[in-house]
Amino acid sequence: MSTNATVEKLVSLCKRRGFVFQSSEIYGGIGGFWDYGPLGVELKNNIKRAWWKAVVQERDDMVGLDAAIVMNPTVWKASGHLDTFADPMVDCKDCKRRFRADELASQAPAGAHGHPSAEGPVVRCPECGGELTEPRMFNLMFKTYVGPVEDDASVAYLRPETAQGMFVNFGNVLQTTRRKLPFGMAQIGKAFRNEITPGNFIFRDREFEQMEIEYFVKPGTDEEWHQHWVEERHQWYLNLGLSSERLRVRRLDHEELAHYAKDTYEVEYLFPMGWSELEGIANRTDFDLGRHAEFSGKVLEYFDEETGEHVVPYVIEPSSGVDRLFMAFLMDSYHEEEVRGETRAILRLHKDLAPTKVAVLPLSRNEQLVPSAREVWALLRPHWMTQFDDAQSIGRRYRRQDEVGTPYCVTVDFDTLTDRAVTIRERDSMEQVRVPIANLVAALREKLEG
Ligand code: ATP
Repeated sequence: MSTNATVEKLVSLCKRRGFVFQSSEIYGGIGGFWDYGPLGVELKNNIKRAWWKAVVQERDDMVGLDAAIVMNPTVWKASGHLDTFADPMVDCKDCKRRFRADELASQAPAGAHGHPSAEGPVVRCPECGGELTEPRMFNLMFKTYVGPVEDDASVAYLRPETAQGMFVNFGNVLQTTRRKLPFGMAQIGKAFRNEITPGNFIFRDREFEQMEIEYFVKPGTDEEWHQHWVEERHQWYLNLGLSSERLRVRRLDHEELAHYAKDTYEVEYLFPMGWSELEGIANRTDFDLGRHAEFSGKVLEYFDEETGEHVVPYVIEPSSGVDRLFMAFLMDSYHEEEVRGETRAILRLHKDLAPTKVAVLPLSRNEQLVPSAREVWALLRPHWMTQFDDAQSIGRRYRRQDEVGTPYCVTVDFDTLTDRAVTIRERDSMEQVRVPIANLVAALREKLEG
């Protein structure tokens, strides 16, 4: 399935219709930070809900967690972030612009962190052709101070990933849930990276949200479970309607692997700027639990009753970013088509993701129709996110709902006043069916949840 979306069209739609705004826009914004508007927050919540349902609610081997953003700084020493979570940075001596050296060297827009391949071929400034400085390593963690004294002892960091909260709680969760291997934890939350070159709209941000799983397995079964998660996660995107031609799973080459990983796959989407990572699914071995045991002096092991052995579990980590998925779902669902000589812009979003499920539209602003339509609206509000719109022509209002992906419009017309029935119009086919108001909730439930 083709999409007509470009990044420019998407940015414009997102701003015009209240999906995404530049952060602190009235002050000129701030690079790499974004605010989600009334429709954006619904789409974001729906993405998170769909993920949580698939990876926690519907499974018998997963539990949830919500750890703090600021953690004891030793966590970042143990995880390796303080020493290695850095990108090589170069400055142009002429125009003073700053770039990621690894990106310039490879010309790839979405390289992974922690690969200081900066010493690659000498390149010139892509903006002005000027000479570049030697690469310097730049740590991506945001630093802050905890408490009133700004000294070395009070330094802390905003987490650059949610994962570590799950590793350091391994013992707590194991003890309180009495789980047997294999089992996993899932967490959704904000992460912060002081990216050198944020960009491509919300693809690379400085503040973003992650959805991460840490799945603990017996060593020796890790490769099998890794395959399981790659398949599960790939299928999740397809189930939510991402087109298969624009989605691929790629196994990383050995040189691309992070220092902790034995093997990694990426789920990638074909954005206008090329194939780019939506999710990484890594086999992290026993690296994390081993390091935290070493740095904390605590035992982070699992006692296998069958064999009588203590083992340090291996970890499979599917890690995705809500903002990147948001962008992919919007890009993929955006279409333009000709209807009666006019262009119809439409978001063919999966109904579980659509920000508004039903819009109630009186045929006109007639004084008899509007109260009836408001009654219908009140009937639907307890069940779904809905909108009421009585401004401008009915055709215009359908188009407005199509453009934000609303799967169903319910129209109240003059016949409604006598036959107590309304018309349900479907977004993609534009087909209409007449339904008694008494059956409306059931009919919509069948369509939206059936
Ligand atoms: P990239 O190579 O694009 O910098 P990464 O390999 O550093 O990403 P991970 O550390 O694996 O990313 O993070 C897991 C997921 O978190 C990514 O797949 C992505 O969806 C999301 N993510 C990471 N960095 C950002 C960012 N700066 N802005 C938005 N989402 C991000």
